Amino acid sequence: MQKGNIGVTTENIFPVIKKFLYSDHEIFLREMVSNAVDATQKLKTLQEKGDFKDEPGDLTVHISLDTDKGTITISDRGIGMTEEEIDKYINQIAFSGVTDFLEKYKDTANNIIGHFGLGFYSSFMVSKKVEIVTKSYKEGSKAVKWTCDGSPAYEIDEAERDSRGTDIILYIDDDCKEFLDKQKLEQLLQKYCKFMAVPIAFGKKQEWSSDEKKMVDTQEDNIINNVEPLWTKTPSTLKDEDYKSFYRTLYPMSDEPLFWIHLNVDYPFNLTGILYFPRVKNAIELQKNKIQLYCNQVFVTDQVEGIVPEFLTLLHGVIDSPDIPLNVSRSYLQSDREVKKISTYITKKVSDRLKAIFGEDRKQYEEKWDDLKLFINYGILTEEGFYDRAKEFALLKDTEGKYFTFDEYKTLIEASQKDKDDNLIYLYATDKDEQYSYIKAAQDKGYSVLLLDGQLDVPCIQTLEQKFEKSRFTRVDADTIDRLIRKEDEQKDSLPEAERDNLSAVFMSQVPKTDKAEYMVQVSALGESQRPVIITQNEWMRRMKEMSRYQQGMGFYGQMPDSYNLVLNSDHRLVKEILSSFNAELATELQPIESEIKGQEARLAALNQQTEKKKPEEITQEEKDDKANTQKAIDEQKAKKQQLIGDYAAKNDIVHQLIDLALLQNGMLKGEALDKFLQRSVELIK
Ligand code: ADP
Repeated sequence: MQKGNIGVTTENIFPVIKKFLYSDHEIFLREMVSNAVDATQKLKTLQEKGDFKDEPGDLTVHISLDTDKGTITISDRGIGMTEEEIDKYINQIAFSGVTDFLEKYKDTANNIIGHFGLGFYSSFMVSKKVEIVTKSYKEGSKAVKWTCDGSPAYEIDEAERDSRGTDIILYIDDDCKEFLDKQKLEQLLQKYCKFMAVPIAFGKKQEWSSDEKKMVDTQEDNIINNVEPLWTKTPSTLKDEDYKSFYRTLYPMSDEPLFWIHLNVDYPFNLTGILYFPRVKNAIELQKNKIQLYCNQVFVTDQVEGIVPEFLTLLHGVIDSPDIPLNVSRSYLQSDREVKKISTYITKKVSDRLKAIFGEDRKQYEEKWDDLKLFINYGILTEEGFYDRAKEFALLKDTEGKYFTFDEYKTLIEASQKDKDDNLIYLYATDKDEQYSYIKAAQDKGYSVLLLDGQLDVPCIQTLEQKFEKSRFTRVDADTIDRLIRKEDEQKDSLPEAERDNLSAVFMSQVPKTDKAEYMVQVSALGESQRPVIITQNEWMRRMKEMSRYQQGMGFYGQMPDSYNLVLNSDHRLVKEILSSFNAELATELQPIESEIKGQEARLAALNQQTEKKKPEEITQEEKDDKANTQKAIDEQKAKKQQLIGDYAAKNDIVHQLIDLALLQNGMLKGEALDKFLQRSVELIK
């Protein structure tokens, strides 16, 4: 028997590492099993080269659990190790690797969130003692047993073992007992070893025994992995159904994917994988961390940020690359140039594939577009340069359900939807039903209206406006249609200014008063056939408010009330009638007030003129008082006028009815206001 000390300077580094890696204890299993798989594959390689001539036999790696002894054993029939090799690979290298590692990262323990090949050593994160019983494939080798209890001291001895290969026996620590649970172990094997390249058996397959009335073991090994996962195969040999069924094994609960992309590259780096566009119904279902990252079929992580472009982290699937540096911290990964190349490559590959599908089968592509656009929009919003790729396969849908590329749509509207300043106006609706009459008004003019009802459609507008030349997007209800696409300078309104002011004042006095909404009244000659009153909402304000929901630092807009325009159509019969009844009823009463106001205003203007040339200290108290009194008189008269108008409007059912109809059209009439409207409507029926 030989005893020795592992070449570690620190007296006992195990507890230290154990603490650092607390959250990731479970990776010990991956490390042990992948070592077993490696040893097995090395044997296969030796056999292929003719350096190993015996019959290799069954190469399955076996995992077994002994709850009585508290051990987990990983057994392989790989190349095994001689005593010298144990000394070299386990005593020297494995442990010196750990010392290097500690030396390098001792200041940045917090950065070690993860995934580095801790190798054989990781077994000590969960074990109080580890035994290796191994016999090399080399002729005449003797079996050896290595034992270590987690201190830098180890023992090495001869052992009994007939067959080639290695058993790693982990005596699980008392505070890690959860790993001795069969289900837990099976779940970890599923997570880390599901696609390893050599069969891995965990116990036996079970079947129902009617004699014993319970599940019993069969003779057959319970193989937990698929040694040839789909991504390792040649794409041309695969059918759609293969991809779909692989998807089902990865995500049993998900709907069928929209598309998939088989990645396969060996220069300038090695990368294979399959990415799926999932079918998602809303943002709540959007989940990151669905892509699994593998290194030679060994599961590494499902946190792929930094490797895969942000917007593609929403995809599902697997990426396998031996070239992604896994044993480094995340911040390093993100700044790594190789990793950046991988990210760029994936974006390009995804774009190429979408472009190809679009080209090959536009109909199928259009059918999936509504589900797909969320990803594309997200890419346009977050990935610099993605727009330039996406413009070839991104679509716009109009309210009729027709799809257009950016270029096609531009051609469609170019002739009719340019305003007098040569800006191309893209009209859009976010809800076909709610904005029905605005859409119709636009269509009646021969305009096309886009339907932007996706989660990220509206946020994307900003980007599109920057990319499209001389173009603006505006929602159909942002103004009256003639003002949305202004063809000529605004016509002088047919009404004299005073009448317009009175009309505005009548309606203004009756608009709903809430904290959430602010109204402005505007008088426009819209034509006799148009509605008497409509409500519009300024595009810019509304957009700012919407954006504030997505972007930090814009919360200010979110808190502002919605501002609406109540547009009175001065051409409409009912509006004209209100005006004439107003004149008939109030003209005589208002006349003296108005002349009073005019008189006082003239006086104030004269006073202002007088004092304007003087320096502040030259203005007399008398002059100041005079001015203040005049202003007060004006205010009083105006208030009086306001009062009269308000009293008139309050009694006028038609005014209320018109305001309510406009609100109703926008789904803004609710509760008590709606009830009053219904009541009034019934009463108005004669
Ligand atoms: P790595 O696997 O990254 O080289 P490890 O610490 O996991 O580092 O293992 C160190 C070495 O020990 C391996 O390179 C291999 O030579 C040897 N080894 C570990 N496990 C086995 C095994 N099951 N069979 C044969 N050799 C093994």
